[in-house]
Amino acid sequence: METGLEIWKFGGAALADARAIQKAVERIAEHDGPLVVVASALAGVTDLLLAAAPDAAETFKRKHQQAARALLTGPALQRYLDEVDASAREYDDVRSAIKILGHQSPRAHDTLVARGEQMSARLLAAALTKPRRRASYVDALDIVRTDDVHGGATPRLEVTRARARKILRPLIESGTIPVVPGFIGRTPDGSVATLGRGGTDLTATLLARSLNAPRVVLWKDVPGIMTADPRLVPDARVIPQLHHREAAEVAHYGAKVLHPRALIPIAGTRITVRVRSFIDPAAPGTEVSSRQSLKAYPVKSLAVLPAQSVITVAGRGMVGVPGIAARTFTSVSAEGLSVSTIFQASSESSIGFTVPDNQANRAVACLTQGLREEIAHGWIDGVSARTQMSVVAVVGDGMAGTPGISARVFTALEAGGINVVAIAQGSSERNISFVVSAADAAEAARRVHAAFQLSKIGGGRPLSKPRTDVVLLGFGRVGRALADQISSMRIDREVRIVGLLDRSGYVFDNRGLSRARLLKLAKAKDQGALLATLGGRAASAGDALAFMASHAVSRPVVVDVTSDNTATVLQTAAAQGFDVVLANKKPLADGWESYDKLVTACTSGGRRLRYEATVGAGLPIIDTYRKLTETGDRVLRIHGCVSGTLTYVLSEVTAGRPFSQAVREAMSRGYAEPDPRDDLSGRDAARKGLILARMMGYRGPAPAADDLVPAPYRNLPLVEFLARLPELDKAWSGRVAAEAKHQKVLRYVVSATNRTVSAGLRGVPAASPIGAASGTQNIVTFQSRRYKFEPLVISGPGAGPQVTAAGILNDICSLDVGPV
Ligand code: ADP
Ligand code: ASP
Ligand code: MG
Repeated sequence: METGLEIWKFGGAALADARAIQKAVERIAEHDGPLVVVASALAGVTDLLLAAAPDAAETFKRKHQQAARALLTGPALQRYLDEVDASAREYDDVRSAIKILGHQSPRAHDTLVARGEQMSARLLAAALTKPRRRASYVDALDIVRTDDVHGGATPRLEVTRARARKILRPLIESGTIPVVPGFIGRTPDGSVATLGRGGTDLTATLLARSLNAPRVVLWKDVPGIMTADPRLVPDARVIPQLHHREAAEVAHYGAKVLHPRALIPIAGTRITVRVRSFIDPAAPGTEVSSRQSLKAYPVKSLAVLPAQSVITVAGRGMVGVPGIAARTFTSVSAEGLSVSTIFQASSESSIGFTVPDNQANRAVACLTQGLREEIAHGWIDGVSARTQMSVVAVVGDGMAGTPGISARVFTALEAGGINVVAIAQGSSERNISFVVSAADAAEAARRVHAAFQLSKIGGGRPLSKPRTDVVLLGFGRVGRALADQISSMRIDREVRIVGLLDRSGYVFDNRGLSRARLLKLAKAKDQGALLATLGGRAASAGDALAFMASHAVSRPVVVDVTSDNTATVLQTAAAQGFDVVLANKKPLADGWESYDKLVTACTSGGRRLRYEATVGAGLPIIDTYRKLTETGDRVLRIHGCVSGTLTYVLSEVTAGRPFSQAVREAMSRGYAEPDPRDDLSGRDAARKGLILARMMGYRGPAPAADDLVPAPYRNLPLVEFLARLPELDKAWSGRVAAEAKHQKVLRYVVSATNRTVSAGLRGVPAASPIGAASGTQNIVTFQSRRYKFEPLVISGPGAGPQVTAAGILNDICSLDVGPV
């Protein structure tokens, strides 16, 4: 081996802007030994060039000019600006020519995107000549030779090796650092090809193999290869060491951290790859080598391949008919489809495999054609596609010798109610893959991750605080209080509001919406504007939630602080993988069927539903119920006063105040709704009672609440109602006096069991906990097997934005990760 030669690759995220490039330059300059640098395009540039919008050339030019002006001076700067100019012009020419032809072949795409890597490598080389190291740009098109599969070419090892030696060796020997664009090469007919997305990793290992370099360093924005994609599994940890074979499998199954074929050139060699953190260069990262360590972990990593379709060729008549599998895969490969995983049912009555969603139609069409005789004979019933699936692969070298791995995987999934659509055991026995619906993939990965205790790998140090991303429905007083409380939280968890949703669309930022931005949005919304027109995007709730769920949202939670009928939106959210937290009573306080539908939607996929704030704001009423039942107690009855306004009015009336005055006082103190009849009708209290009863298993209709406003007064204009309030005083003082004779006081009481629910005015013993309630206090008592004679009592303030927000936050924090 070439002593000490290293190949360093800088990923797009490590070349995000001038500052990052400057850091890369410094790091290279500090390195003493011989070095080859492989560059990705600047962050976002490949996507930009591929999308080929009319202003792409302009943006491309501006990005590179800006970086260059910060890094270069004098003639070097001028030379580079000229190159960028020429490259952008050429890009636009090709782009318009393709537009005229009306279709973009992979070949045309490759010509378009190649300049991303070329211009970033040129910039890096130019910036490097300033410090003490000599560097020189070398075009990969002069070195890397590939086959002719545009968009995903495979390098030809022998020719590439010869060219790399001829061109790069003399430079290295003279102490120069060659800077080579990654990702691109030349096909036999001389055209430009790319190695597939993420291909710079492959260029780096290819050059290492070609030059016999003992070591490759891949500088990335993650701290190493992790036990799972940290965007999906917040508990993911850096794996200190992996065998080549294991890393190859992780990459093959779609972990974006490595190009799927990056390890092929160095398989069977002693070349070591290190995946290191560009942000934290002192951290050791992951070593990929021919060693085997971490024997205690038979499973080391999970990979999730999103947007897949399962194609199934099925028919009972297939059994024993030879060659169907062969013909299936011949058709598929002739069509050039990218099959990721093959499934064979044990009964042999079906063959299945996965392709990306956007190839599903082609797969079905080519198979229906290729197998038409078998279909005509009735050997095959048909070919079908199931779209919007994900393949989750569980990878580790120790799996072969460890019994019970698949059982552990499937027990974990079953516990989460996650339906497994298909299973494949890799022939190498170093992986098991299974297919789940795309909406279940993240939860499946978290559960399997927890089942194998992967968060303990490498000493189990967490990388950062666990994070919960909140999407809010509505942003009124409670939403604002919640935003305040989140920003002053003192616990080991990061909670961020990443999105707002209304009926027009959504606003989303995966780094979290700042408080200032939230307040600005709230103000505009108060004036009637809709999110879609406030810098957000127009979308249906379903599309908005799907978008947010798939954009780097970790542990997503939808929090409903509206008072609308949001049941459908919440069901959609649950289907997209969100947990659901409610302060809004309406979705829970309808008929049994709609309640059941919502709860099932939330819990069937392992999602969770919390709604503490709907009943007692911040009081732990539902939490207490949960704890009692979890520890084996049986709650027989919950009853109490759950309307602060009604408790206030009734306790004042009991103390001798006229009813009209008590109501006016409740209004002026801000306890009551703007129209106090909304409280006095008892409807709100009845909803709370119903929620409690449903929780206990009650399936009947909503209770008819006692309305404290006599019928003739219910539809009066508010002003008139208030003016005529004193007419009611006498009747109230009479009722109070009648109760007092029996040492009783009037309270508005809700009462719930698993069979009954009621809400109304009751006389209760003055000495009972409920009778003693005063002010706007909520008071709830639990009668259970354990607390039969002396009920368990919970009381405190049951309304107000601050305590409601606290209740919500408590719910959010209770949705913890881990083995659920
Ligand atoms: P580069 O900048 O070198 O191109 P990538 O962006 O291709 O790096 O790879 C890093 C990304 O891969 C991260 O953003 C991370 O979210 C994702 N990723 C997926 N699976 C894993 C995993 N198992 N370990 C680390 N990162 C992963
Ligand atoms: N720039 C290319 C991409 O974004 C290649 C790479 O970064 O490795 O896929
Ligand atoms: Mg990459």
